[in-house]
Amino acid sequence: MSAVLNTPPAAAPANDTVTQARELTDGFHLVIDALKLNDIDTIFGLPGIPITDFTRMAQAEGMRVISFRHEQHAGNAAAAAGFLTRKPGICLTVSAPGFLNGLTALANATTNCFPMILISGSSEREIVDLQQGDYEEMDQLAIAKPLCKAAFRVLHAQDIGVGIARAIRSALSGRPGGVYLDLPAKLFAQTMDAEAGKHSLIKVVDPAPRQIPAPDSVERALALLKGAKRPLILLGKGAAYAQADADIRALIEKTGIPYLPMSMAKGLLPDTHAQSAAPARSYVLAEADVVMLVGARLNWLLSHGKGKTWGARPKQFIQIDIAPTEIDSNVAIAAPLIGDIGSCVSALLGGIDSNWARPPADWLGAIAERRDKNLSKMAATLAQNPSPMNFHSALNVVRELVKKHPDAMLVNEGANTLDFTRSIVDMYEPRKRLDVGTWGIMGIGMGFAVAAAVTTGKPVIAIEGDSAFGFSGMEVETICRYNLPICIVVFNNNGVYKGTDVNPRGGDVAPTVFVKNARYDLMMQAFGGVGVHATTPAELKAAMDEAIASGKPTLINAVIDETAGTESGRITSLNPQSAATKK
Ligand code: ADP
Repeated sequence: MSAVLNTPPAAAPANDTVTQARELTDGFHLVIDALKLNDIDTIFGLPGIPITDFTRMAQAEGMRVISFRHEQHAGNAAAAAGFLTRKPGICLTVSAPGFLNGLTALANATTNCFPMILISGSSEREIVDLQQGDYEEMDQLAIAKPLCKAAFRVLHAQDIGVGIARAIRSALSGRPGGVYLDLPAKLFAQTMDAEAGKHSLIKVVDPAPRQIPAPDSVERALALLKGAKRPLILLGKGAAYAQADADIRALIEKTGIPYLPMSMAKGLLPDTHAQSAAPARSYVLAEADVVMLVGARLNWLLSHGKGKTWGARPKQFIQIDIAPTEIDSNVAIAAPLIGDIGSCVSALLGGIDSNWARPPADWLGAIAERRDKNLSKMAATLAQNPSPMNFHSALNVVRELVKKHPDAMLVNEGANTLDFTRSIVDMYEPRKRLDVGTWGIMGIGMGFAVAAAVTTGKPVIAIEGDSAFGFSGMEVETICRYNLPICIVVFNNNGVYKGTDVNPRGGDVAPTVFVKNARYDLMMQAFGGVGVHATTPAELKAAMDEAIASGKPTLINAVIDETAGTESGRITSLNPQSAATKK
């Protein structure tokens, strides 16, 4: 929108005796109009100098402005919104400290290939560049550059349209990621002719153009897949992001190839699908002869494609990815398939007809045998009801709840809480699970939960380790303020990993130990939400059922056996000390 300002034109001709009403717009409105023109309707941020008025104006212009208590969580919300919607999530911060607080989220989004734009207000260039000591002085553009896909600064109101367009296109095209946009304080108040301003804005056409794979690369991949005796498909969060759900399912079902979902690809096909090899994960990774990666990288989460995890059997890889430089990053890729996942999968489907031979029965039979054995072992563990409650008995409640509400969003972070939830709680629909991602980062919980609630309108369940929750816990106020349907379950075992460490010298408690028997539920009550203290699966179930039914912000303090939990969960081996002890 533009503002009608009754000002005389700056350079009015001498003979012009009438003061004309001239329509002007300003930097504030041009940014808002540029975002709206590109169908961006939500901003996650935290007001302060120089963007306070901007947040007010954006709200007045009909945008949803979700204000957080710390920029990192606003940034995490923007990143998750980007992953869920395939539109860049917007995080808005103040200068220097606010910008730095948002930077972790920007770097994390880039690492995870989530599209987001961090927009930060900044101090005046003239003063920053001469280092004359401005309010919150910092060369933000230079600092952001190595941590994101692209970084831009806009100095003139007439360039705002281009700046926003470049940011959107950079975030969405090719491999998605984070973009930084630097808007100095002076820019917001600059005015220009409203009509010229309108014409300076750009509606980005086809921001994430399809990238069609080369036909010979499709042939190569199909030939390798056809010749496989023990094929496996590995789905990553790139496949979830691509929103090619029906074709991915068709590819798996038509070929009959067993598949493994990475954690955020869970639910692309229901985890209960007959072809899911998740319950036989170690076996299939070690024994497969041809592995097709669909939007998944061979990084640490997949042991870099080599070593014990992958067994002694020689393997050949097919890799579908939009980023050509991802290929051969860890091991040789026999059949790279470069393009967007939708186009690549549909090209593969074109080569699979009714004569396609399903994988050999001995491969499928061996997987089924291990799967059934592991599933019944798991069922027996889940059926136990120990006192105090442990991860399994508590997660059995969550597992049943998600089965009943497959459209609910699940946010998950922690160490043991993450590992156990990932393996125990089945997902049934695509993009319902948001977690610690490529870095295994702690602190995404409340930001992701807010984004999940705001962008989907569905109930959100956040399963949090007590340590992980601490990183973003103050955002329970945000959740109450916007009355979001979020049910947080804090698995409270009194510490990081567990609560039983002892300082051998006495004095301070051990570094991994928290206040014993803390009541996280009271934090939620402090802001008007529902807080429940649960010590049994029955109490946990009653509280979660109630939270889903009421949609009220809820925090359940789920008391877990403080001896439950292992050091760093399943990645103990990454601790230098424990690796040395093992030798
Ligand atoms: P996971 O952690 O689930 O294994 P990663 O984040 O490691 O997944 O891998 C995701 C991969 O998906 C990245 O290499 C990224 O380039 C790729 N990717 C993201 N979006 C698309 C897309 N639309 N088409 C093709 N590849 C994509």
